[in-house]
Amino acid sequence: MTGTTDYPPFRLFNTLSRSVEVVQTLEPGVLRFYSCGPTVYSYAHIGNFRTFLTADLIVRAARAIGWSVQYVTNITDVGHLTDDDVADGGGEDRMAKALSSREGERFGNVWDLARYYADQLVADWKTLNLLEPTLRPRATEHMRQQILTIRRLIDSGHAYETELGIYFSVPSFADYGKLSGNEDAGQLAEAVRDVVTDPGKRDPRDFALWKKDDKHLMQWFSPWGWGFPGWHIECSVMAVEYLGEQIDIHGGGEDLIFPHHECEIAQAESQSGKRFARYWVHTRFLQVEGRKMAKRDGTFLTVRDLVGRKEDGGRGFDPAAVRLALMSGQYRKPANFTFETLRASARHIQRIREARKVAAGAVGAVVGETSGRDNSSDATSGRLDAVYNRALASLLDDLNTPEAIAAGLEGVKVILASADGMSAREADAALVWLDRMEALIGWEGPPPSLATGGEDDFAATVERLLSERTTARSKRDFARADAIRDELVDMGVEVMDAPGGPMWRKKLTV
Ligand SMILES: [Zn+2]
Repeated sequence: MTGTTDYPPFRLFNTLSRSVEVVQTLEPGVLRFYSCGPTVYSYAHIGNFRTFLTADLIVRAARAIGWSVQYVTNITDVGHLTDDDVADGGGEDRMAKALSSREGERFGNVWDLARYYADQLVADWKTLNLLEPTLRPRATEHMRQQILTIRRLIDSGHAYETELGIYFSVPSFADYGKLSGNEDAGQLAEAVRDVVTDPGKRDPRDFALWKKDDKHLMQWFSPWGWGFPGWHIECSVMAVEYLGEQIDIHGGGEDLIFPHHECEIAQAESQSGKRFARYWVHTRFLQVEGRKMAKRDGTFLTVRDLVGRKEDGGRGFDPAAVRLALMSGQYRKPANFTFETLRASARHIQRIREARKVAAGAVGAVVGETSGRDNSSDATSGRLDAVYNRALASLLDDLNTPEAIAAGLEGVKVILASADGMSAREADAALVWLDRMEALIGWEGPPPSLATGGEDDFAATVERLLSERTTARSKRDFARADAIRDELVDMGVEVMDAPGGPMWRKKLTV
């Protein structure tokens, strides 16, 4: 204990200790946080986004108490295997499978597919008003670091080579199983029994760090020939690269506890000899209308499905309503996403937007007309302060979002109740409160697209045309691609083709 920390306590459930703990960061006032991102072989579904929302709220709560946050979340843009949810990682490559599916037909190759879905992920991320991370590293851009780490694991006796790949030696790391409780060797062997295994593996629990495969759609050259890395090595390598050998919080969906996070711990701690992450935070699965999400019964929902959905007179749902519905249950409880909750959330958002409109409209209220209300303005701001403190305390209490939202809605009620003849001072207090609540739980977000101005529409049109042009080019439809380029030139847009995809700017008119 340094004795210098007088931050309010931030409590989170730690999967490692199976209890709610007060987060003590390694460096007082600085939070080092890594949250696992998605594999981009398709659109992320709202269950994935509930997990990203947990990360978002951890960052917001930490900032609200004055911590500075280093927040890293990755994009897995190298195909990991359909059976990677068992530690052995056999089965079919997810990206290759997506490329050969009907939706995959429009992509020229697996790299285009990964880039497209990574871009869509970031777009949906913004739609849901999720904070931009400090860094969003991609697996394919960290191949050298992964290869070097694997080599160090071999050199230190924690990994070995077979004819088919490189494996981490589980018996070489005594703490394996401490996160998931999966410590029984017999049980683990049972769990991986059905997967195609490598006869050269020394222990059935050993997991792949590198697969030798010169036929794979994404392959890199390594000291062991052509191949590609295992999924688990990517995250621990990028976390250590950007946050150091020891981080404060590591998060993800509950399905990542085993094997992914268990394997990350083994890889990182066997190298550093230090505890990798102090707190492990996992978000429970989301059901839709009481069922596991499945494409065939219409319960597999993406952000764009909901925002683009033709509801309420032809308009989709307000993205803020989708976010609020996803926040309406605490992250650690199984959640059921229903359209009833979504509609109720949409009504709440309408009231929040109405409160902002009322307050913004009253900012210039003439003092003489409302001077009789000065006492009530102090009362209003006092009540709003109390409501904010309750919302913050709820978030700091293991991200109790239902309580935080309930407190917030009470504040909205206070504002709307004083709407009639609101004084300028009351309006100021209301706007300050709305901004503080927005920073804390991000419930308003940017105004819905209909309310946005001309500049945003222009940018959206350019982005749409660029994406159509990329698609046309990947299908080798150059005539269409050139036609789109001409259209962009007519709009006064200059396009530069960069390695990471096309960039554009509006030409300056002299
Ligand atoms: Zn990960």
